[in-house]
Amino acid sequence: MMDRRIRKEELKIAIHEAYLRFRECNEGRNADYIPYLANAGSSLFGIAACLPDGEIITAGDCSSVFGIESISKVPTALLVLKDYGSETLLDMIGADATGMPFNSVLAILLENEHPSTPLVNAGAISAVSMVRPVGNSDGKWEAIKENIEKLCGSEVRLIDELYRSESVSNHNNRAIAWLLKSYNRIYDEPEMSLDLYTRQCSLGVTATQLSIMAATIAFGGYNPITHEHVFNSSLTSRITSLMATVGFYEHTGDWMFSCGLPAKSGVGGGIMGVLPGVFGIAAFSPPIDAAGNSVRAQRALHFVMEQLNLHIFNGERAFIVEDEKN
Ligand code: GLU
Repeated sequence: MMDRRIRKEELKIAIHEAYLRFRECNEGRNADYIPYLANAGSSLFGIAACLPDGEIITAGDCSSVFGIESISKVPTALLVLKDYGSETLLDMIGADATGMPFNSVLAILLENEHPSTPLVNAGAISAVSMVRPVGNSDGKWEAIKENIEKLCGSEVRLIDELYRSESVSNHNNRAIAWLLKSYNRIYDEPEMSLDLYTRQCSLGVTATQLSIMAATIAFGGYNPITHEHVFNSSLTSRITSLMATVGFYEHTGDWMFSCGLPAKSGVGGGIMGVLPGVFGIAAFSPPIDAAGNSVRAQRALHFVMEQLNLHIFNGERAFIVEDEKN
């Protein structure tokens, strides 16, 4: 495999250009099925990349707090991988894309009663149900939140209004939780699992925090900001495979084909991308497309990946290197 060096300056220019190019893009609409998200500032837009030496390159609104939503499925899947191992995750949840919407009830029926992958709602609720200590809601919440904080290297807080707003409108997810129960695919109390899932989706994060979480995944569990080893390096390939398979809802194939960045998006407008060994990158902007992916964020990440020819399957090994001194 060929090595290719990319100067930090090239990455900075690509990120800033992406920001300038797409900040005026007015396509997409805020998610409206969760009232809190409908009211988020539609013009907010930020891009952040975290490098192996802990340097973070930012453009735009990288300190604005927004709902992590489905991106929370990634850290909780990691927690389950850490606690149970990949074979058990494969057996108890699975790792296949359904090709159906993230909250599909039909997919559970068609997949022969299998939750499919921890990165869609059924599998994510199932994953939450496996978090230890089983049967103890406070203990589980502590474990979920602490894991996210270790991955992003700083505190995260619940957005109460979002949590309330999701809790009164999550009927479809309740149906999923109880359907899983009838198939013995939920491993703790369904209502508790649903509540914890709803809570994890309602955590507030910034694009900078997500870039650090992505970097921790990209660097085999080593958080370049706190210098802590958060998980065993063997799990990077597992979690990145899950992201590459289903992270972009029904558009994951198109996204991987054209952009080549394993990524997970959320209806809050965030996208977190992991390029193993290279960087963690995140972008955020509330207006989303019909599949649930932020329009500005996906354009920006696509642009950066294309500008620097970073497609994960391009047969090269990229390294970000210091700028040459004159
Ligand atoms: N809390 C949302 C739901 O479960 C998350 C959706 C998403 O970001 O994909 O419907």
